Amino acid sequence: MIGAWHAVAASASPSIDPKLPQAMLQGDAVLLSLQLPENYELAYALFAGKVLRLQPLPQPKKRRTNHLSNYHEAVVAAPTDSVPGLYSVKIALLNRHGDAWHFVRQIEIKQKRWGIEHLTVPRKFAELSAQQRRRAKQEKQQIRTAFTQSAKQRLWKTDFQRPVAGKITSPFGIRRRQNNKPRSPHWGTDFRAAVGTPVRATNHGQVLLTGEFFIPGNCVFVDHGNGLITGYSHLDKILVEHKQEVIAGEVIGYSGSSGRVNGPHLHWSAYWKGNMFNPLSLLNLY
Ligand SMILES: [Zn+2]
Repeated sequence: MIGAWHAVAASASPSIDPKLPQAMLQGDAVLLSLQLPENYELAYALFAGKVLRLQPLPQPKKRRTNHLSNYHEAVVAAPTDSVPGLYSVKIALLNRHGDAWHFVRQIEIKQKRWGIEHLTVPRKFAELSAQQRRRAKQEKQQIRTAFTQSAKQRLWKTDFQRPVAGKITSPFGIRRRQNNKPRSPHWGTDFRAAVGTPVRATNHGQVLLTGEFFIPGNCVFVDHGNGLITGYSHLDKILVEHKQEVIAGEVIGYSGSSGRVNGPHLHWSAYWKGNMFNPLSLLNLY
């Protein structure tokens, strides 16, 4: 595939009008979408150092004639630490004869105002013991390793939906200070959710990992394919199993206060090709 970036252009440039917003915020995801020209069958994008294939809506093979199968899409996310400015999204198309054609679109990554949150907790809860730190580090690695197992095939369909209806209590990326000491930023979106609130898969996918972890508590991670994963933490109860297929809106667990938290809520997280991004931006893709 990489060779496509360097290939000589096919004799006639196909007419193509990819849809991509002009700008996005640091840590947000947007949709890149295009209608494949006749005779072209594959489209790839290169953004933020990651290559991914644009893919049509997943649908039964028999219905390939559906016109929607011609629209190829991919989610691209701006790293949280990207320097604001203009960035290139390189797009390569391949036709049935192996000819490649590529072009570049630009997108501006804008500075996000992350905000800051001050937390005060009793000192005995503030620091982790060496053993707790070791466990947390090991589990983080276990989760990261599971992420590498994301399906190449797109599993998500169109609109993403909220995992719970509750109000947002802590936004993605907010900088945190605990007892006036800097802590790592908040890499998820917290929703108010009483213990036992049904938590729903935000799109179609397959359960990539479930488990009971020290910091995030009882978790479910759903693979939406093509590098896109969402996570649901601090659950009271997990209702799904590893490799189980889930559909958008399916109840995958009940919210709770498991793990290292002050009270019940749902922590929703999202990952693109291993980078965390703001899950709320998934609600505005279309
Ligand atoms: Zn959280």
